[in-house]
Amino acid sequence: MTKTADAVVIGGGIVGCATAYNLAKLGCKKVVLVEEKYLTSGATGRCGAGVRMQWGTEPNCILARDSIKMLENLEEELEYPGSIEFKQSGYLLLAYTEKMVEQFHMNIGLQHRLGIPSCWVTPEEVKEIVPHLNTQGLHGATYCPKDGHCNPFKTTDAYAQAAKRLGVEILTYTKVTDLPRNSDKIKGIETTAGIIETPLVIACAGAYTRQLARLVGVDLPIYPERHQILVTEPVEPLLGPMVMSFYHGTYCQQVPHGGFLMGLGDPHEVKDFNEDSTWQFLHETAAKITFMLPVLKEVRVVRQWSGLYDLTPDKTQILGAIPEVPGFFVAAGFSGHGFMMAPVVGKLMAEVMLGLEPQYPIEMYGVKRFAEGSLYVEPSVV
Ligand SMILES: Cc1cc2nc3c(=O)[nH]c(=O)nc-3n(C[C@H](O)[C@H](O)[C@H](O)COP(=O)(O)OP(=O)(O)OC[C@H]3O[C@@H](n4cnc5c(N)ncnc54)[C@H](O)[C@@H]3O)c2cc1C
Repeated sequence: MTKTADAVVIGGGIVGCATAYNLAKLGCKKVVLVEEKYLTSGATGRCGAGVRMQWGTEPNCILARDSIKMLENLEEELEYPGSIEFKQSGYLLLAYTEKMVEQFHMNIGLQHRLGIPSCWVTPEEVKEIVPHLNTQGLHGATYCPKDGHCNPFKTTDAYAQAAKRLGVEILTYTKVTDLPRNSDKIKGIETTAGIIETPLVIACAGAYTRQLARLVGVDLPIYPERHQILVTEPVEPLLGPMVMSFYHGTYCQQVPHGGFLMGLGDPHEVKDFNEDSTWQFLHETAAKITFMLPVLKEVRVVRQWSGLYDLTPDKTQILGAIPEVPGFFVAAGFSGHGFMMAPVVGKLMAEVMLGLEPQYPIEMYGVKRFAEGSLYVEPSVV
């Protein structure tokens, strides 16, 4: 089978679906999205789906701020008959050292300059926001009431359904195996179901984006890293905001159905494609979270799983055209925060691919920053 398309999107996670939708919305006639497994089978369907504006670099603050603004009206925009379960109950970022207090105050300065309504809260004020929190050793926290959480399956489904209504063809269980070129220019894609000729290809393949770029001779600094996560049984409402501690490397949030989602960043994790689950994760997460929230000691764990972060050296995403290969674009390297950036990233990438003026310049997210050493090192990550 050989067919043609005006643009091809590789990857059926939230970023690929949002990009495909925006391409069609901007008038690109024949858009095909190709997904190796099923929609949300990658990091998107395994993530915490927390959304926060409280970042420590300007590029991340801007993307998250504008994506959250878009999430507030996404169901209407996409005419989604269901709910994406967007809940704005805030994020509380806990500071346990003087160095963190200093960093958080710097972050707040940046966030206020960008119009983000975050604030510093004392341990006493923290207790008012989360009465169950153990404040032992706590210096204070930052809080933003506009941060929150969505359902990642429903949000991706909302984009995919809207994209289909605009004529996007979605091919699942179809793997991209090669990216043929005509001299340097992209000519199309080869897949397990045949060839699609197209002048525009975007790789939104999460941790697998480096492999795809290698097919056109480009080496992107994107590394896979396993992150584990678990969910508890549902219980009565006990916790409003997401509680996050960079000191403990943990996060914990009660989702609308009553279960608690929690995860842990392991600084010793090997950078490979391993997605096994371990009892060590369960043990360490339970110990750290029940120190912070002792009320959870009696709550039972229902399920644990893992997914891959697509990490870059500065923990900031790579967005834009790949100059060596005209027609080839990348949106990956989200380093654990791509779900919350996807609404605005999908729009920006579609604008850039179609040669339109993007909402704001995206040069700062380009891959050449690594060669030039002009990195945006994000300090606020788990
Ligand atoms: C445990 C965990 C917790 C997280 N928590 C959060 C959070 O709270 N908030 C947040 O914003 N982010 C979070 N993230 C990060 C977030 O999940 C990702 O940044 C985001 O989902 C990336 O979406 P994506 O569409 O770029 O990639 P993915 O969802 O990984 O999608 C890529 C898709 O490409 C497909 N693919 C790969 N290779 C090929 C090929 N050759 N041919 C065809 N298809 C291919 C894959 O099958 C996959 O479905 C978390 C991640 C993990 C693992």
